[in-house]
Amino acid sequence: MSFLELLQTVPAAFVVACLILGLMVGSFLNVVIHRLPKMMDRGWHQQCSELRGEEPVATPAYNLVVPRSACPQCNHTLSAWENIPVISYLLLRGKCKGCGAPISPRYPIIEAISGILCAYAAWHFGFGLIAASAMLLIWALLALTAIDFDTQLLPDDITLPLLWLGLLLNLFGIFTNLPNAMLGAVVGYLSLWSVYWLFKLTTGKEGMGYGDFKLLAALGAWLGWQMLPLIILLSSLVGAMVGITLIIALKHGRNIPIPFGPYLAGGGLIALFWGPTLTQSYLQFLAMT
Ligand SMILES: [Zn+2]
Repeated sequence: MSFLELLQTVPAAFVVACLILGLMVGSFLNVVIHRLPKMMDRGWHQQCSELRGEEPVATPAYNLVVPRSACPQCNHTLSAWENIPVISYLLLRGKCKGCGAPISPRYPIIEAISGILCAYAAWHFGFGLIAASAMLLIWALLALTAIDFDTQLLPDDITLPLLWLGLLLNLFGIFTNLPNAMLGAVVGYLSLWSVYWLFKLTTGKEGMGYGDFKLLAALGAWLGWQMLPLIILLSSLVGAMVGITLIIALKHGRNIPIPFGPYLAGGGLIALFWGPTLTQSYLQFLAMT
């Protein structure tokens, strides 16, 4: 039996394979989360100095591949065995091998979440293109969530390709048909865009960013317009609860922007797995009353 046949015929093998893949990609997501905002920042600075007509300054290469991962304290380059998702962190007891500086628990947490969600997707959808596509969506949403927490930004470099990919996948009807996906992208963008302008014109404040519109457009493109009310409802509910808790517990200023992206991403994830079931039971509930 070939490896592919094994994955196809033994569900447990597929789940374990996706768990391992999820852990490994989670490790790469940590790099994306850490470096992409810095790469964007460098790009903007470069564009600004170009506009000012300054000579370009040669800087060492900095992208998702180069330089190799190193300890920010002592520059100790991580060897392959120090780069094993979750396990290395546990073996090193959360400390750098070079200087003993603590390693943020966030790295193994992101890896573990990625692994668990991928294993769940494998179990939920079974072997096939739907599970593979779902994992891509999970990784994008995970990276966007962490970057939004850190920087209050949802990079176009992730949201826009995600939107196009959703439309492309649904050209083949992976999650919904193309008209549903198309409408999902348009309505997803325009609904938050209208809320944004309504809020801005009435209060003079910006309640959310353009990244939020693009993310909801992407989710609409992936899951179809039918999932948008559910995603908005879930993300507003959780967002409001977390927001109120933060304001009360931390005396978090009311005017400090709380990123909305993570809640949209969370709502999107729930819609990915349970959206059809949730909307169906809601419609049944409506029909009963
Ligand atoms: Zn170190």
